[in-house]
Amino acid sequence: MIASVHVLHASPPEIGGFLRIGHTGHRKLEALLAANRLYFRRFVFDAAHIAEQTELVKSLRGSGCEIVLDPNSAEMATLGRFNSSVSKLPWGNPDRPWQPSDFGKGRNVDTAKAIAEFAVKYSVDAVLTPAHFVDSLPNGWTTVDMKLCEELRNELDRSGGKSVALDFQIIATNTLLRDTASRELLISSVRHLPVENVWIRASGFGATATGAATRSFMESVRHFHELQKPLVADYTGGLSGLAAAAFGVVGGMSHGVGQKETFRASGLNTPSKPGERKGSTKWIYVPELNRSFKQEQLGSLFGVRGARSRFGCNDSNCCPNGPEDMIENPHIHFITQRSRQLTDLSNVPELRRAEHLLLRHLDPAVRAARLASRLHPDDQALVKAMLASKKRLVNLRDALGDLHATDGGATRSSMPTFRGNLKNLNSAAGGQKNDKCGFQDH
Ligand SMILES: [Zn+2]
Repeated sequence: MIASVHVLHASPPEIGGFLRIGHTGHRKLEALLAANRLYFRRFVFDAAHIAEQTELVKSLRGSGCEIVLDPNSAEMATLGRFNSSVSKLPWGNPDRPWQPSDFGKGRNVDTAKAIAEFAVKYSVDAVLTPAHFVDSLPNGWTTVDMKLCEELRNELDRSGGKSVALDFQIIATNTLLRDTASRELLISSVRHLPVENVWIRASGFGATATGAATRSFMESVRHFHELQKPLVADYTGGLSGLAAAAFGVVGGMSHGVGQKETFRASGLNTPSKPGERKGSTKWIYVPELNRSFKQEQLGSLFGVRGARSRFGCNDSNCCPNGPEDMIENPHIHFITQRSRQLTDLSNVPELRRAEHLLLRHLDPAVRAARLASRLHPDDQALVKAMLASKKRLVNLRDALGDLHATDGGATRSSMPTFRGNLKNLNSAAGGQKNDKCGFQDH
């Protein structure tokens, strides 16, 4: 035990990986947890779906994992989402999207009280503050969100949730974050709030962001280090998200299982078509190419001589039967591969992480994408996609290489503190460090 504590302190600080559970797939995650293959240890549950996922919540808690609740307030204020499953929550509104004026004096719904009671009911470790999307500032939502955050802290303290932490959410656009005046307004709004971490979900930044958008996000978000609170990039992934963590811009990142790696604000205002199931397509992650493919697309890529062995999963602890396994169980493959990337970066001392990302992750991806772009699969859309991927990766490499060369003195975000139960985490793993649902076991 003493040896394992010693190892914990000697390791470089670990990048916080948060997995968003979403509305489907929780049964698969239960199976992964039972098989000791759910390598993450921080999980975000949507308030709109947690009632159907209580078994998973219970098992994760029992294993010492951290549970974060997203109250889904942003969705409640948008035309495209207000009448989805979020409308049934006690602080939702099935009639119309909430507006800032609904949160004035004499309002009918006590949002903070309802969320606090809900959080205590589900015994979560932390709650994301009820926050709303802003694409320009000043904006009516900023004052509402600050007030809700303070009220939620008071209500949690009053209703038995003193130990439940609060993380502030900023949901905006990459363009807004680039604007100095808007950024300063956000920073001064958050500065005195009773929150541990600050989550930033930016439309225009994510797994498929261009080199310019990635660099812009990184340069803008660095200004938030002034808050001296750990930052978490939400709805991000791929090499752009990993770069934000490796360069120390954020201390953690959050996404779903092969989804929610990009946030598009435009989607919030597009009503869902009846019967439409968002996120039901099976996407298969190919880390070497920094992208996911639909099953048919991957089939046509693998149909080209040599591509299957070059891009199929050859990690026997992830997909023992190679490409067949990655296609059959894309969620296990995604979780394993993303956790490998986070662990690989976390194992490197902080000041060497940016270089490590460039040389060990981004350069090989550029080489792989160049090779893939020279293949000739039958699917013309795929040929186009591979060319676009190559172009994007080369641009990302150029933008991040230049940023690395010029930002020697840049500040770094601290890492989010783990809020689960480390004792349970270790004992659930039979004494091995974080072996149950943590990602430090490889
Ligand atoms: Zn695999």
